[in-house]
Amino acid sequence: MNTNHLAIIVPCYNEKEVITETAAFLSRILDQLLSEGKIGKGSVLCVDDGSKDGTWQIIENLSANNPYIKGLKLSRNVGHQNALWAGLEWAAENCDVAVSIDADLQDDPYAILQMIDLFNQGKEVVYGVRSVRKSDTFFKRNTALFFYKLMTGMGVDIVYNHADYRLLSKRALEAFVSYPERNLFLRGMATQIGFQSAEVFYERSERFAGESKYPFVKMLNFALDGITSFSIRPLRLIVFAGGIFILIAIAVVIYGLTAYYEGRAIPGWTSLLVSLWFIGGSILMAIGIIGEYIGKIYKEVKRRPRYFIDKEI
Ligand code: UDP
Ligand code: MG
Repeated sequence: MNTNHLAIIVPCYNEKEVITETAAFLSRILDQLLSEGKIGKGSVLCVDDGSKDGTWQIIENLSANNPYIKGLKLSRNVGHQNALWAGLEWAAENCDVAVSIDADLQDDPYAILQMIDLFNQGKEVVYGVRSVRKSDTFFKRNTALFFYKLMTGMGVDIVYNHADYRLLSKRALEAFVSYPERNLFLRGMATQIGFQSAEVFYERSERFAGESKYPFVKMLNFALDGITSFSIRPLRLIVFAGGIFILIAIAVVIYGLTAYYEGRAIPGWTSLLVSLWFIGGSILMAIGIIGEYIGKIYKEVKRRPRYFIDKEI
């Protein structure tokens, strides 16, 4: 007899168009898992990340009629990763296994069935991996691919085409929430905790309704955060680049001096101007990258709470 309590964690930010359908879909999945005896208890935890479109009222109404539905209302919008974190902390305390999924039904909920099978075979972390991304735009597909390549190049261990659709066992959940960092990049942390893991492939479809809450600038910020939270390689690259610049500078000095003594030095302001701008640019960028890390340290040392719970149902 299986007694495991499964919580499906759904971060929701202005998702009034989709949340009802998502809750119904996930409830059907829980029905099926319960009837097959693969879990002992099921919950859908909707984490309302400070929505302003009445998502919370819908969650309240849903929970009144559907015993699976539970809700956490955060005091303000803290972002997808922090909202998910609130759900993970709740699950680490109250459940035996959790699956995190977006509210928009882009990630096929049927994959949860396979995830639970793998969990029941002893896997502690199961990654949902998008096998085809044909529903994404050409732009999103390619920027995403570039992002994964860049991350890997920077020495960050992440699973290709895996976002935040994943199963975590109780042990994995407890390991997860023991991470003290404030700059959250959950998909990078997931590969860090170790334990036995597996992958489940699914087709990513279009958003069921509503609009993406990740416009390009937010995506870019997320990618930068991912790299600077997990890798100090950019700093190392600056050191290398600096070394190369010094080598070039030595060559230029030798060339300039010989030209001067041979009397063929011409007053070339072009080269001066170009090098001035180029070096100025490199220094600015280097300072920027260092600043990026200092900013991260600043945020970490403040140890600010990640979120506050306003209401719970
Ligand atoms: N989300 C959130 N807080 C935010 C932004 C997004 O909780 O500040 C949630 C959102 O409701 C959704 C998930 O994070 O469940 C992923 O967002 P979205 O589907 O808009 O991103 P995309 O799939 O376009 O990358
Ligand atoms: Mg989405």
